[in-house]
Amino acid sequence: MISSDEIHKVLEGYDRKKLTIATIGSHTAIQILKGAKDEGFRTLVICRPGREKFYRRFGIADEILSVKDYQDILNAQFQQELLKRNVILIPHGSFVEYVEAKNIENRLRVPVFGNRAVLDWESNRAREREWLRKAGLRIPGEFSRPEDIDRLSIVKFPGARGGRNYFLANNAMEFEENIKGIKLEDRENFTIQEYIIGIRFYPHYFYSPLKDRVELLGIDIRYETNVDGVARISHLLTEHPNPSFVVAGNIPVVARESLLPSMMDIAENLVNASKALFRPGMVGPFCIESICTEELEFVVFEISARIVAGTNLYMQGSPYSQLLYREPMSMGRRIAREIKEAGKRLDRVIY
Ligand code: ATP
Repeated sequence: MISSDEIHKVLEGYDRKKLTIATIGSHTAIQILKGAKDEGFRTLVICRPGREKFYRRFGIADEILSVKDYQDILNAQFQQELLKRNVILIPHGSFVEYVEAKNIENRLRVPVFGNRAVLDWESNRAREREWLRKAGLRIPGEFSRPEDIDRLSIVKFPGARGGRNYFLANNAMEFEENIKGIKLEDRENFTIQEYIIGIRFYPHYFYSPLKDRVELLGIDIRYETNVDGVARISHLLTEHPNPSFVVAGNIPVVARESLLPSMMDIAENLVNASKALFRPGMVGPFCIESICTEELEFVVFEISARIVAGTNLYMQGSPYSQLLYREPMSMGRRIAREIKEAGKRLDRVIY
């Protein structure tokens, strides 16, 4: 793993007046680059050949670099190009998926906003569970073997692939039936999790180490096909198709005001637990995926320790961000603001 000391040395060599905010052209790149421009930074987007035109049209990227494969950004020569431009990379979901957490931790010498150690904690399900437990949150039960399934469960496969291939099973027989549809090489690595009935809330938070403050900047619900479509016609169906959970979009939502205190407690507990588990803990944007049960209790089944796609709803700010900021404050802009406010102490927001 590249140590924080090495990264801080790189930062010491940077020209602080000429920082460039950069990311990979996908996911939340438009929001990140726009936010960085709003905060007065130079910006750069790294994309695959053919995508340049798309990013050029918004006037939010001062520079566009193309790579054949996103892992090419790990090449020493390419990293040198980024270092020359005083680049701070902003990780997002596709960034982590394409470059991979282990490469970001071990091979990327270019500074990445936040604490890169967090990527392993959010992408490794066992560690993620340890973190959620340490925060004292209610989490779904898990079954280690299909034979143990005794209630409606959701079967998950690794990687942030937006719910692809997930299926439901009430018992071992249904599990065996459905697993046949999964590619052989993927079959070994599954998680069987209790399916929680309720409604979903995916709040977006930002933890500022500079202010030692957790901010709620928005909430969304993922719009998933086909499960959200089946719900609309369930009364017409005699035979139910297997539900799938492939994300196709995001819907904005505001929560009952009386639910907001628990939402904030969850985030604060997660930040406190992170400080104990991996120093200096969570820095910057994160999101939890939770189900609100009929008792109005939150069950948290996933944490994303980076900017999530649902924040794209709020490029102009959200009802919550407006309570804290008198200007349109997207998550992308909030990241750039933290970098700006860190000033000479970039080592307080980059590890
Ligand atoms: P990400 O891209 O966030 O990493 P993922 O591919 O890891 O997503 P999850 O977020 O774990 O997938 O789950 C995808 C969807 O499956 C959720 O949005 C939700 O609709 C449903 N889901 C997952 N776990 C549960 C659960 N325990 N109970 C009920 N629904 C669940």
